[in-house]
Amino acid sequence: MTTTPVETSSPSFDADALSATARDHLWMHFTRMSSYADSAVPTIVRGEGARIFDSHGRSYLDGLAGLFVVQAGHGREELARAAYEQAKELAFFPLWSYAHPPAIELADRLASYAPGDLNKVFFTTGGGEAVETAWKLAKQYYKLVGKPMKHKVVSRHIAYHGTPQGALSITGIPDAKKWFEPLVPGAHKAANTNFYRAPEHGDDLEAFARWAAEDIERAIVMEGPDTVAAVFVEPVQNSGGCFPPPPGYFQRLRDICDRHDVLLVSDETICAFGRLGTIFACDKFGYVPDIITCAKGLTSGYSPIGAAIVSDRVAEPFWTGGASFPHGYTFGGHPVSAAVAMANLDLFEREQLPQHVLQNEGAFRATLEKLTDLPIVGDVRGDGYFYGIELVKDKATKETFDADESERLLRGFLSRALFEAGLYCRADDRGDPVVQLAPPLIVGQREFDEIESVLRSVLTEAWARL
Ligand code: PLP
Repeated sequence: MTTTPVETSSPSFDADALSATARDHLWMHFTRMSSYADSAVPTIVRGEGARIFDSHGRSYLDGLAGLFVVQAGHGREELARAAYEQAKELAFFPLWSYAHPPAIELADRLASYAPGDLNKVFFTTGGGEAVETAWKLAKQYYKLVGKPMKHKVVSRHIAYHGTPQGALSITGIPDAKKWFEPLVPGAHKAANTNFYRAPEHGDDLEAFARWAAEDIERAIVMEGPDTVAAVFVEPVQNSGGCFPPPPGYFQRLRDICDRHDVLLVSDETICAFGRLGTIFACDKFGYVPDIITCAKGLTSGYSPIGAAIVSDRVAEPFWTGGASFPHGYTFGGHPVSAAVAMANLDLFEREQLPQHVLQNEGAFRATLEKLTDLPIVGDVRGDGYFYGIELVKDKATKETFDADESERLLRGFLSRALFEAGLYCRADDRGDPVVQLAPPLIVGQREFDEIESVLRSVLTEAWARL
């Protein structure tokens, strides 16, 4: 390995004791706990800018912004201060029939950024709850407007939309669902926009866009439009390794949803708040959904919050009739999180973070594309500061790795080797094997080069091992 993490500070933690206690008591998410039986639990203790530090004092480049979250970078005092000031003033009050200023101001601000008539904001504590909220809202909306049969949803293969049982039903990853079946019925799947492995029209992006959008229409028609309430899609699908929409895709999908009276939900849990260079990602691709679901980058992770942002048209039967939406969360729209979100959006405006992404996204792409000279790199795809690098066994045929090879490559070698080489990012095989990158939005060419250099050396070694 050519790159080694820099020892930047003497550790103020007893790393071995922390790791042992973690092993005994901390149930980590989506983690095979037995994999730490004989090895230390990596423990991150501090962050500064685009770097994180572990309990041994080693520094790493945060190539994933934590988990697509820390847009403004780590250690921003003004965001910590916003939390402190709000907690002093009013630490908690629910949004159950009462309001508080941070939630009011944030709802107003999100409505001002959102396109079209998306003016009503329902707060949650995260993305999965926002997706769950959007499905429940769509079901009740159609009951209130006299179309009570409309309750089903269509989403896309391999897409991840969260872990509550409704959101998990919408999720299109069989391995994430199989232990929890039966899930909420009525969630159907259609094609995603994986152009690298396009089953049809692999030579023509626009024809592929039509085909992929029409696959969603086929699912709607197959189920019966009178029974379908909503389509859930991400602007750029994360799971599977960053599938951007081909040109015209969203315009076609909007038209399909309108023709069949089906709500279009843009799940922007990852893509919003500058990740693609705009506050809301639907703006980047020129479509107006009926509901946006979002979370993660809204506070840059300094406190948890999520939201479903709903059009006036969909909110209308809840605003004018006697109906209420019998749904909510104790911590939804938490005052501290809402205050932090306001400070985070102030910071976005002052430092022009979305514009910074738009100015630098070409350089990020060009730097990552240098890796296509490696025999293991099949495809580099993404948008803004959000990229996936697909690994293949054979570039010419696009042959992928079998389950065994993938296990040895991703879990057995890559994740750990990248981390040991100083880059925190994600090696993922929920679809075909990919390395995913989504650094804090503050980074530039220096960090792009660092990412490229670590990936080059680790992927070269991975290929040699194969
Ligand atoms: N939707 C999408 C598109 C996501 O990427 C995620 C999480 O990564 C979720 C929903 C779930 O969000 P959370 O983990 O905040 O519940």
